[in-house]
Amino acid sequence: MKAIAVQRGSEGPTVIEKPRPEPDEGEALLRTLRVGVDGTDHEVIGGSHGGFPEGEDHMVLGHEAVAVVEDANGTDLAEGDVVVPTVRRPPAEGTNDYFERGEPDMAPDGEYVERGIVGEHGYMAEYVTSAPEYLIPVPAERWEVGFLVEPISITEKALEHAYASRSAFEWAPESALVLGNRSLGLLTLAMLEYGVDSDRSFAAHDFERTYCLGRRQRPDPTVDIIEEIGATYVDSTETPLETVPDEFEPMDFVYEATGYAPHAFETVEALAPNGVGALLGIPDSWEFEVDGGRIHNELVLHNKALVGTVNSHVEHFEGAVDTLAELPEWLLSDLVTTVATPEDVEPAFEYGDDQIKAVVEFDRL
Ligand code: NDP
Ligand code: ZN
Repeated sequence: MKAIAVQRGSEGPTVIEKPRPEPDEGEALLRTLRVGVDGTDHEVIGGSHGGFPEGEDHMVLGHEAVAVVEDANGTDLAEGDVVVPTVRRPPAEGTNDYFERGEPDMAPDGEYVERGIVGEHGYMAEYVTSAPEYLIPVPAERWEVGFLVEPISITEKALEHAYASRSAFEWAPESALVLGNRSLGLLTLAMLEYGVDSDRSFAAHDFERTYCLGRRQRPDPTVDIIEEIGATYVDSTETPLETVPDEFEPMDFVYEATGYAPHAFETVEALAPNGVGALLGIPDSWEFEVDGGRIHNELVLHNKALVGTVNSHVEHFEGAVDTLAELPEWLLSDLVTTVATPEDVEPAFEYGDDQIKAVVEFDRL
């Protein structure tokens, strides 16, 4: 079967041939439909994030997948079920408390592997295997956009943690600012603007005023989407983040999805009193000057909070399935800018300003 992998010592992704995997006892065999590409994949390809499975010369890419059960292999699944797999799996030494509690997303380094990111092959292959507890059912009619469940689940978790940090008092947020205008930023902006009416989704608030900060000038497809969503575009080349409170308003909630390290600190100044910032970006080491005293003072005297958050667990995926069902069709179709095939995969890894979300389609339902 065909798989798309990064190989030790060579640059960029390549299409390789691998044997079709055999499911172990207790695992199902899945036929892959679509696998999305995000900023993390570009970091993995560039070598700044993640790592190869132990003892292997390559890693199959891909962590945002939607697949169909090909062989249930004695599990409770049924052939033909459409499913989305989670990303984290126990490390080679076996399971641990985080996995047993259903909170692998809270496990520290070394206590997990991530499929397609660190230490385990991903989903960019015609067939993959998985234990059923890591598979979330998706309505079959949503198969084409099912790969968006994983990135949405990232924001489900971020929202859960941000709201939890404000749960000790009456918090009534009205304004929200998303930093970053690619796939994660735009999906999150839509979640905050539309809100989701579901007990499983954490995107229950709909903010009265939403903003999205980028560094692009109009005309630009992402700015068009931001405005179509009903949010205000903030061009950071004209209005740097620290000036947003004066130029627009202080924000009750800031969601950082740029990976631009100064944003972590500027977020504190952009927040309104009692506000919370969720940091999602994964920057490299980078030294720069900040006024630490001022940031410390702001956090304390205005009851502000910053939460860092990574990955997500099964409940967040389930919430994401409900969220996905409420996002408008036009948005989903505008977000998916490239549908590539394994025969001609290169366009999926191009990263020009016209690329928002690329997907590799292995098969159709
Ligand atoms: P991308 O790298 O595709 O998008 C980053 C966005 O931020 C782009 O729109 C980019 O603008 C914008 N940006 C970067 N620097 C600046 C700046 N200085 N000022 C304004 N805008 C800026 O990543 P994704 O959307 O896929 O993900 C966002 C971040 O979240 C990444 O760092 C990724 O690694 C991380 N991530 C974290 C996860 C977690 O679990 N914590 C999960 C998934 C992703 P432009 O397009 O113009 O270059
Ligand atoms: Zn991702």
